[in-house]
Amino acid sequence: MPALPENLIVYERGWLSSNNLLCLGDTPALIDTGHVKHAKDTVRQLGTALGGRPLAGIAHTHLHSDHCGGTGALQAAWPGARTWVPELSLAHVQAWDEDALTFGGTAQRCARFTAQHALVPGQTVRLGDFDWQIHAAPGHDALAVLLFEPTHGVLMAGDAMWEHGVGVIFPHIEGSDGFDTFADTLSLIEQIDPAVVVPGHGAVFNRSTGAIAAAIARARARIDQFNANPAAHALYAAKVLIKYQMMDVESMAHADFERWLDQAPALHTLHQQHRPDMDWRDWLAHILAPMFGKGVLRRDGTLVRDGV
Ligand SMILES: [Zn+2]
Repeated sequence: MPALPENLIVYERGWLSSNNLLCLGDTPALIDTGHVKHAKDTVRQLGTALGGRPLAGIAHTHLHSDHCGGTGALQAAWPGARTWVPELSLAHVQAWDEDALTFGGTAQRCARFTAQHALVPGQTVRLGDFDWQIHAAPGHDALAVLLFEPTHGVLMAGDAMWEHGVGVIFPHIEGSDGFDTFADTLSLIEQIDPAVVVPGHGAVFNRSTGAIAAAIARARARIDQFNANPAAHALYAAKVLIKYQMMDVESMAHADFERWLDQAPALHTLHQQHRPDMDWRDWLAHILAPMFGKGVLRRDGTLVRDGV
């Protein structure tokens, strides 16, 4: 079993929510807050764990809607909590710039929250009983950070690394970065050499079983595939964005589903990256057919449903 100290509690959440890491101590803090859809559960779960003590801090590995969607509800429940976000995101949060925060481009929803403090790479942040090192972790998200607690070797990786699979590489969709930045962050994790990784999604995994080295090798192989065939990444990303939306809303009238597809800027970019030779409608039909075929999505009369 992973050797997590008893004052660090991981809440492994199903999609859409990211995992949450509760750092207990004199100033209890939560790292990553899940999706807005599960915000009430997040508050309830935390209230039980804190046993009447106030939450003192909230920190984020990055500001995708599955990692910061509970923050507004936590701030309402514990108004004294201080909130940290990655340095480069602080101004976007303070201005609540939905496009810079990527909720606009991906057509996702996230409840508004505030932040006062920056997670600055090279510095440390006190969360619970520990000082966490802050490292820049571009790749999945250009502005993301890793948080590393060196005395127990615990790495809060967010979506920079999962045990299985590689998250969508958003900077590549935006045209600002290649796939190799993701691999550079894997090399940084290798250098940090954590004993335990708390990923953004999925179970905690550790060094002693070889799981961290294996995860890094698998992720590198995936990046090699994307480099060899960038269209494969575009197809993967398009399917992830559509599935994510349907997991959020669960069902939509077919006309609303079509409208959402038409109005998601990232999907238009992915269309161009995947099959610019195809007409938009034909491309949508082409990528949706296997999603319906495999039951990832379902048709139910005039509705489109998530095929959980
Ligand atoms: Zn995530």
